[in-house]
Amino acid sequence: MTGEVNPFESLQAQIDDAAGYVDVGADVLERLKRPERVLETTLSVEMDDGSIELFTAYRSQFNGDRGPYKGGIRYHPNVSRDEVKALSGWMVYKCATVDIPYGGGKGGIVVDPREYSAAELERLTRAYATELRPLIGPDRDIPAPDVNTGQREMNWIKDTYETLENTTAPGTVTGKAPSSGGSAGRVEATGRSVMLTAREAFEYLGKDIADATVAVQGFGNAGSVAARLIDEELGANVVALSDSGGAIHNPDGLDVAAAKEHKVDTGTLSGFSGAVEEFGNEDLLTMDVDLLVPAALENAIDGELAERISADIVVEAANGPLTPRADDVLTDRDVAVFPDILANAGGVTVSYFEWVQNRQRFAWTEQRVNEELERVITNAFDTLTETYETTDAPNYRTAAYVTAIRRVARAADEAGVFP
Ligand code: GLU
Repeated sequence: MTGEVNPFESLQAQIDDAAGYVDVGADVLERLKRPERVLETTLSVEMDDGSIELFTAYRSQFNGDRGPYKGGIRYHPNVSRDEVKALSGWMVYKCATVDIPYGGGKGGIVVDPREYSAAELERLTRAYATELRPLIGPDRDIPAPDVNTGQREMNWIKDTYETLENTTAPGTVTGKAPSSGGSAGRVEATGRSVMLTAREAFEYLGKDIADATVAVQGFGNAGSVAARLIDEELGANVVALSDSGGAIHNPDGLDVAAAKEHKVDTGTLSGFSGAVEEFGNEDLLTMDVDLLVPAALENAIDGELAERISADIVVEAANGPLTPRADDVLTDRDVAVFPDILANAGGVTVSYFEWVQNRQRFAWTEQRVNEELERVITNAFDTLTETYETTDAPNYRTAAYVTAIRRVARAADEAGVFP
């Protein structure tokens, strides 16, 4: 893991890499590399002991040419202005890759939520939602969960917004609990699109996923669901898993559902009885497996580590897990990397379905959600590989950006510049 690579510079480098393959004017392209606006705010929050603590929080609205800004809210001590800007840009190109009618946004609070009580986190979330209120709404900007946030935080944001606006507007935020207007299948959606991308990737490359060995780095919502579905629905052999406490390994395969239970019970994967060996994060990333799924945070794999990756196929569940240098190394080494803006787009795609259901006040079944998600991801996969084959794009990431940039640039161009 390297802290030296600025994710916003990585995003801009990814756009520059694709620029040579798209017929987009330099002026439009420049607009597509910077956020339209970034809110930075200081939140004053009362602690349980009566003291007041200050928190820095952001919301970046990167581009709204294809629809309302859309993207999650992250609670993490490493949240920074540039990280939020990068993540908001990745949302723009993710929504364009899977062709859902959204722009991109992202928010974050600099906080380690493990250090605060539920009541303190509720006051923090409501203070943030109060600052966001003029910027968000079902037709403006629609937050969602990201690292360390989930249904609970989304329900608080929805309630704060609706109370202040004196209305009901469940489509203001997605990733809510089903009883508060959330969609069936939303919790699983990110991991499900990682599984679908892995399935399509193996088929496209003529490899059998049922014979494959798999390592998954990160065991949050995306990683744990992806590992379970790759195991259960594709029949692959998940041999290594990790979380922030370390990695576990069993060459005969790990029981992912049992590992999840162990994590829920003890708070860590470490000590799981189904593992024959415990080792470090780097050992997992460099293991000789068929499929590697980085599902933790950005910059997990830098250029030096990329030289030692032994997997043939990488499917990115996290946002931005490879540095640009790592991308170059893996391209040179012929490792097939299927990018975040396709592979983890299931989250925002089912957020889109949630928003559609909220607008219609009509709930879909989980089966319908999963079928529509499969259609969106497989179509986007086919478009990506077609672009890869019909342009000189050197890898699948650049091919994804080529399609996405074309779509966003067309909308930006058609909108023109106001005033
Ligand atoms: N935070 C997720 C992502 O990075 C989901 C965003 C959303 O549902 O709007 O894609």
